[in-house]
Amino acid sequence: MTNIQMNLSNIHKNIEEAALTSGRDKEAVTLIGVTKTKPIDDMLKAVQHGLIHVGENKVQEIRQKYDALPNTVKWHMIGHLQTNKVKYIMDKVTMIHSVDSIRLAEKINQEAEKIGRIMDILIQVNVVDEATKFGLSLQSVMQVLKVIGRFKFIQVKGLMTIAPYVINPEDNRAVFKKIKQLSVDIKSKNLNNISMDILSMGMTNDYKVAIEEGATMVRVGTGIFGKRMYKG
Ligand SMILES: *Cc1c(COP(=O)(O)O)cnc(C)c1O
Repeated sequence: MTNIQMNLSNIHKNIEEAALTSGRDKEAVTLIGVTKTKPIDDMLKAVQHGLIHVGENKVQEIRQKYDALPNTVKWHMIGHLQTNKVKYIMDKVTMIHSVDSIRLAEKINQEAEKIGRIMDILIQVNVVDEATKFGLSLQSVMQVLKVIGRFKFIQVKGLMTIAPYVINPEDNRAVFKKIKQLSVDIKSKNLNNISMDILSMGMTNDYKVAIEEGATMVRVGTGIFGKRMYKG
């Protein structure tokens, strides 16, 4: 077995175990393979071994790789998105995980209307409020959702968070609990056009804990494809 195949099979096993711990079955959790900086060949290998969802954090990389992958692949935009680049991925991605402002949501809504589709989005929440990271604060999410809910060509499906890097994944359990609780609170408000079925949280280091706390999408890069090499 190739490494990628082995890694995928281990991760699926872990997903199943963690899902059981939280009283769910493995179908309740979607694995997104994060392929940023990784070559097409590696991506094709993963797809050949059953990976369906891929996540990228740069518009340019999605555009470069898109045509080389089978059209059964579902692309997720998981990185910070500038409004002037929204148009380049509108016909390519299944979901945008990183919506962190009304302005960006409005732009996605406009571009979606232009091509006659409805775009599924997640609201990125920054639980720890680190100034360096993108995402809305816990306190501002509800207000923003009330505005975004009016946009007809986007559908809010849930929340996304990037937890801090920690050595011990247990240290992020409280972060995942907070996001889960926020989603429950939002759901109870029955806001127009807002559903909270998706929680995109957990990466290589902490996806098991995230699933135990209710993640329905995990974004795993290194755990499938190995370490990333950055140029420069
Ligand atoms: C890179 C990245 C991941 C994957 O990180 P790993 O630690 O390699 O699993 C997940 N989510 C986002 C938003 C990322 O940018």
